[in-house]
Amino acid sequence: MSQLPATSLQDIIGHAKEYGFVFPSSEIYDGLQAVYDYGQNGVELKNNLKAAWWKAMTQLNDNIVGIDASIFMHPLTWKASGHVDGFNDPMIDNKDSKKRYRADQLLEGKAEQYEAEGQPEKAKALLAEMGRLLSAEDLNGVRELIITENIKCAVSGTTNWTEVRQFNLMFSTQVGSVAEDSSLIYLRPETAQGIFVNFLNVQKSGRMKVPFGIAQIGKAFRNEIVARQFIFRMREFEQMEMQFFIRPGTEMAWYETWKETRLKFHKAIGLPAEKLKFHDHEKLAHYANAAVDIEYEFPFGFREMEGIHSRTDFDLKNHQELSKKKQQYFDSELDENGKPFGNYIPYVVETSVGADRLFLATFCNAYTVETVGEGENEKQRTFLKLHPALAPFKAAVLPLVKKDGLAEKAQAIANSLKSSFRTTYDDGAAIGKRYTRQDLIGTPFCIVIDYQTMEDDTVTIRHRDTMEQERVAISELKEKIGYEVAVERILEAI
Ligand code: ATP
Repeated sequence: MSQLPATSLQDIIGHAKEYGFVFPSSEIYDGLQAVYDYGQNGVELKNNLKAAWWKAMTQLNDNIVGIDASIFMHPLTWKASGHVDGFNDPMIDNKDSKKRYRADQLLEGKAEQYEAEGQPEKAKALLAEMGRLLSAEDLNGVRELIITENIKCAVSGTTNWTEVRQFNLMFSTQVGSVAEDSSLIYLRPETAQGIFVNFLNVQKSGRMKVPFGIAQIGKAFRNEIVARQFIFRMREFEQMEMQFFIRPGTEMAWYETWKETRLKFHKAIGLPAEKLKFHDHEKLAHYANAAVDIEYEFPFGFREMEGIHSRTDFDLKNHQELSKKKQQYFDSELDENGKPFGNYIPYVVETSVGADRLFLATFCNAYTVETVGEGENEKQRTFLKLHPALAPFKAAVLPLVKKDGLAEKAQAIANSLKSSFRTTYDDGAAIGKRYTRQDLIGTPFCIVIDYQTMEDDTVTIRHRDTMEQERVAISELKEKIGYEVAVERILEAI
């Protein structure tokens, strides 16, 4: 059995659509750029990923609780957070093709090219220079750099570039039914602020003691300049964020702890170590004093999947200033001199992962094409090697044939398993074809009911990854499969 190399993003997009994982939004109207819908299998996989993350945060840690804040927030929130003034991407247009690019991404692309050509020093120097210019908000300098690096538009092939301009990524709309009374409001560009403004509500109502965390899963919206690469960069997406409130001065230790913990999570859901790496930020966001990305090797290269940021007291301090409401915590524990730490605004280390990027990484990693059989019987088999706890269906119950009571027996078995885990029943075609259907959506176990079942109440379990079969008693199914598909198997590995 040999493995075939290199899956392209097109393979992934095709498979996701054909088997009910991800569809383009409003496709009958030719879709809406950078917006996608999850189908019947996609929603299950995504929900399972979200459940694993939620439990990893709020169940494995005594001191982390969750909330669910609204998408709309008071407009001053975004003033305090810095998004009104500073949530910009530098954009540049090619005058010949009229195509718009993100200036930083053009330069990063060039650096990647240097890397690929075996010139890592040049790549590093370019990224450092870009970081310096962006930090100094020297947009002219960024343009000059694009020109001196001779970066050409992929469409027109020219270097006929416009100025670099800052473009705010927040979507806005109006609240209020009458135009005169309405006021400008934003769709949240991150879930984090819903947590910051509820920091004291949660701390007081939950009698939380620093260090403690608040977790949230929810939609976020960004008017991305260049939206491409499928669900990697969308204008509406979902974030899973956790803000961890700590004593000032302890942030670097917590930053290291969360880096390691989050990496373990990604390995626990089945992403291989060699496809994951840390990448320190070239340019720190306006709120951060240390920041790292966990990158995954997508078919288009290593890209950010999760960000871990040490946000200091930036957000709470600004909310305190603008709202005129104290955002302090009283720490009664004693320092080395026996004095209480007293009142302070906590520092924050956050972990922020996109549910959609995690979905894409999981899906790409699971997508497997291998050659099976030999000689004339050689053929390709495609299957999704998903962690059993993440698979849309955990088991498929398949009668070998429909007659002689096998179908009824199989249906009864399927019904008996449904309350424990998601089970599907299929009697629609030859058994090999039915295995293939389950392989394509990643069902880890196929339970086959044959004539022997009618005699001794045993069935075969066919394993997705190895295609091996084993004979087990019907009475053992619930426990045996239930064990393998439980989210505990992921949580135990963190
Ligand atoms: P990028 O540099 O790729 O634009 P970012 O650094 O702006 O991402 P953060 O603000 O740190 O991203 O957001 C945290 C996480 O949210 C990201 O790691 C990513 O998984 C997810 N995310 C951000 N923007 C998008 C998007 N447009 N589509 C899908 N997921 C996104």
